[in-house]
Amino acid sequence: MSESVAASNPKLYDVSSGRFVVAIQGFLIESEGTTLLVDTCVGDCKLRARGEFNDARFGWLSRLQATGIRVDDVDLVLSTHLHVDHVGCNTYYADGGWRPTFPRARYLFVDEEFEFWTSDSATSPLERTGDYVGDSILPLFEFGVADFINARHVITPSICVIPLPGHTPGHVGVRIESDGQRAVISGDLFHTAIQCENPDWNTRFCVDPEQSRQSRRIFFETHADSDTLILPAHFPYPCAGFIRRTDTAYRYEFISPERILDLL
Ligand SMILES: [Zn+2]
Repeated sequence: MSESVAASNPKLYDVSSGRFVVAIQGFLIESEGTTLLVDTCVGDCKLRARGEFNDARFGWLSRLQATGIRVDDVDLVLSTHLHVDHVGCNTYYADGGWRPTFPRARYLFVDEEFEFWTSDSATSPLERTGDYVGDSILPLFEFGVADFINARHVITPSICVIPLPGHTPGHVGVRIESDGQRAVISGDLFHTAIQCENPDWNTRFCVDPEQSRQSRRIFFETHADSDTLILPAHFPYPCAGFIRRTDTAYRYEFISPERILDLL
């Protein structure tokens, strides 16, 4: 680990605990009259097998609302994939049942991803930490506010879904093109900048390790030294950056918060 450039950055790797620093975040996009929310994080007050997520009080929804966004403003909610830390605020509990948090929104689910998480294949206790499918996904179908999409779905002329399979079978990213600028929300394709130096490293949560490596390598090679802004789901603030080529692999170049504001 000591030779790693990224691992020598205390914002990315905590030497005292020997753990990577990981954030959990969603992204809100306003484009051509459509307000799209990508991933809704862990959620609060939900029963979870994983201790740090159980009956949590992260306050993510309150912080979203503090930016001036009302739950009624959201038109679409997209999950990059159906892991527990990406769907938690999809629903809230009231009047004896789980209800859509964003009452006007259509919730978009990639068909292949939904099939996997509702099949017998997804029975690993590591993956199914509590019945989050039952409280954060299935109620949306019962309310008639969920739609299936494929992994190349076009959301608006500026925004489309792109397949990045491996971490989960129907894992997707979101490509944004506007005014000649490009960005990709890369979901959980990689969880830490250290994976740019080591593209074959997976997390224990990657369902198909070989497919994960392949998607990551293709993605890095496609975007290396380009002006496409990358927005990974789990990078600490400011998560945005660029993939740069090195002699041996790649590196992640974080951009400053000031530069993010310039790009908006
Ligand atoms: Zn995740």
